[in-house]
Amino acid sequence: MSKVLVLPGDGIGQEIVAQALKVIDHLNNNDNLGMELVHGLIGGTAYDETGSPLPQATLDAAKACDSILLGAVGGYQWEALERDLRPERGLLGLRAEMDLFSNLRPAILYPQLASASTLKEEIVSGLDLMIVRELVAGIYFGQPRGIETRDGERYGFNSATYYESEIRRIGHSAFKIAQKRDKRVCSVDKANVLEVCELWRDVMEEVAKDYPDVELSHMYVDNAAMQLVKAPKQFDVMVTSNLFGDVLSDCAAMLTGSIGMLPSASLNKDGFGMYEPIHGSAPDIAGQDMANPLATILSVSMMLRYSLDQVDLADKIDRSVNTVLDQGYRTADIASEGDTVVGTNEMGDLVVKALQG
Ligand code: NAD
Repeated sequence: MSKVLVLPGDGIGQEIVAQALKVIDHLNNNDNLGMELVHGLIGGTAYDETGSPLPQATLDAAKACDSILLGAVGGYQWEALERDLRPERGLLGLRAEMDLFSNLRPAILYPQLASASTLKEEIVSGLDLMIVRELVAGIYFGQPRGIETRDGERYGFNSATYYESEIRRIGHSAFKIAQKRDKRVCSVDKANVLEVCELWRDVMEEVAKDYPDVELSHMYVDNAAMQLVKAPKQFDVMVTSNLFGDVLSDCAAMLTGSIGMLPSASLNKDGFGMYEPIHGSAPDIAGQDMANPLATILSVSMMLRYSLDQVDLADKIDRSVNTVLDQGYRTADIASEGDTVVGTNEMGDLVVKALQG
């Protein structure tokens, strides 16, 4: 029996998570999923009800659960709040408190949606790559940092830092994921210029010795950016630092043409994970039954695959999403001419129907 904390959050979060819950209910009732759900507050909705974007009750519940399913946070009405009270702080706080250092960002392009990409169909159709990004260290957190006056002018500085233990643990995370996929890891760095990357490369080589079944290669980040656009299907798993991963994962997401289709995970060393779509709370379409719920439904599939060890049911969800796309159903964000456009609710129902089939 697994216990999952459900945090719909703000904007379209409520609507898209409701569809994922339909899928979970179906699997609980028909496929012995055995998932117990606990519900909590995060983001602007949590601020409105409790005065904090990350209430202590949410944190306590997270620590008592095996995983989190999150919708999205944020919205115009909370933008004027002081920084620590903003919805996004709730999310960042949860990542930090749970030490979610390993960020998994798959970029999958369903052949049915290949025309949604700005790249040529043959370059991207069938794309299935996973970017593993280090999330809680590197230049985003390194000290010293700041802006000060030196020699009579303003001077800004940050520090790109990694302890070998921080590199080692993200390395293990990437290799373990590769073992569940095509068994290839490409480590992305800038070791020709940066000492911190020289260490990164050395440690990746050391970690690789524990995974003789997985092939390790290295690529400089500038080349990796070019290769992602030129021939993205050459990659299986890419592992990289916080900064490079931030940029490359958004680039990879755009190869697929739709942020409404992409799930993500952030894991800690115990396999605890927070699973969420990569997109935000889309306040422009919230409450209009227009949001694409598939990224959230696929987040459930990722949770089953990477935290709860229920790969068969994860495969079943993935197949059902494929079936619905094959049948020509699309939410507005991914629709082309000739498709049947459906709303958020109907898309959820269609996935459940496909699960039955
Ligand atoms: P966004 O991802 O919310 O929206 C960007 C565009 O994509 C919008 O036009 C939106 O309508 C569309 N879109 C997003 N998700 C969609 C879906 N499932 N189906 C159909 N269309 C979808 O990004 P934004 O507009 O830059 O940010 C809006 C709010 O979300 C901000 O408050 C921001 O801080 C927050 N945000 C939260 C997260 C998160 O919760 N992880 C991530 C990014 C942004």
